Amino acid sequence: MTSFRSAHLKAYSYYGTGGVCGELYRPTSMDELVDAVKTSHRLGQPLIALGGGTNSLVLDEPFAGAFVVFHGLDQIVVTGERLRVGAGVDNTRLAEVALQHGLDGVAWMNRLPGQIGGTVRMNARCYGGEISQVVAEVTAVSRSGEVRTYRERSMFRGYKDTVFMTSGDLIASVELQLVAGDKAGVARKMQACADDRIAKGQFDYPSCGCVFKNDYGIGLPSGLLLEQAGAKALKHGGAEVSPLHANFVYNKGASSRAILELTLMMRDLVYREFGVWMAYEMEILGSLPPDLAERVAEVKEQRPDQVKIEALKQKTSRFNG
Ligand SMILES: Cc1cc2nc3c(=O)[nH]c(=O)nc-3n(C[C@H](O)[C@H](O)[C@H](O)COP(=O)(O)OP(=O)(O)OC[C@H]3O[C@@H](n4cnc5c(N)ncnc54)[C@H](O)[C@@H]3O)c2cc1C
Repeated sequence: MTSFRSAHLKAYSYYGTGGVCGELYRPTSMDELVDAVKTSHRLGQPLIALGGGTNSLVLDEPFAGAFVVFHGLDQIVVTGERLRVGAGVDNTRLAEVALQHGLDGVAWMNRLPGQIGGTVRMNARCYGGEISQVVAEVTAVSRSGEVRTYRERSMFRGYKDTVFMTSGDLIASVELQLVAGDKAGVARKMQACADDRIAKGQFDYPSCGCVFKNDYGIGLPSGLLLEQAGAKALKHGGAEVSPLHANFVYNKGASSRAILELTLMMRDLVYREFGVWMAYEMEILGSLPPDLAERVAEVKEQRPDQVKIEALKQKTSRFNG
């Protein structure tokens, strides 16, 4: 296995930001992944998983522990309607391979940035699909190096929530159950997803997708709350809120600190305007400096302003209807 000392993480983060880590593991097989986990466990070295980095912010500060990246686990084996996929396989490649085999079930993953390992951990969803719908089995490595197989549906706990978030297990491979489909129809769905993302400016600058989760029981997405609160005007140190989607933060030459500070301003803005305290969907990887750690960890009581929320609902239903 290749492993590097003092590796620069910028090259592996989708935002293109981040500092150095003490050790970087790049396993190319299950055995190498187990080795990396056991080594870091024996050394008492904190170990952080990084997939495509497309839902993450890798911090600027040097990280004394290790990172593990999964690009080397890139195999796809197709057996009938089942696909066994290495954790490092890119989502778009997965959708393309399924199409080649006339299989339906992952067309929605076309141009969804990231790798299947990170996608399973985050229970990613879009365009009516959610990864939990097609996963039959996950093979993972525990933090002490034990190989575990997950088959129960309960590995997915709901919206953006999985058991891997609490166990910390590293996903090595995923088995997907797809269905035979009509190739032309699957190709059309894939194209529609790609076109929509392009039209929404999602690839204009690096981002991490939605910074904040959407589920606050108020029937409005965070992007709309942010937009209504005026977040689209916010910029800070080379980080900017997307003019097309107020829950996306573009990197136009920022550090991770500047990106994070901008997201803190966004969270405060929505709280002031609507009394909704948004939770981060973006994963913050590395060691937070104390001043930022305190602000990120802050939790305020939910005090939704029903009058403003109802007014916004009315406004959007008039607009959509
Ligand atoms: C332009 C854009 C659009 C997006 N649109 C959507 C969308 O529509 N819907 C949606 O749900 N998401 C969206 N995202 C977010 C992101 O694409 C998905 O969450 C994606 O599935 C993350 O995969 P990743 O490999 O990049 O994860 P990373 O960002 O690398 O990691 C995410 C988390 O998983 C952990 N992790 C990574 N790999 C592993 C592994 N093998 N085993 C265990 N843990 C691991 C990391 O430590 C981190 O905590 C978007 C992102 C961008 C940039």
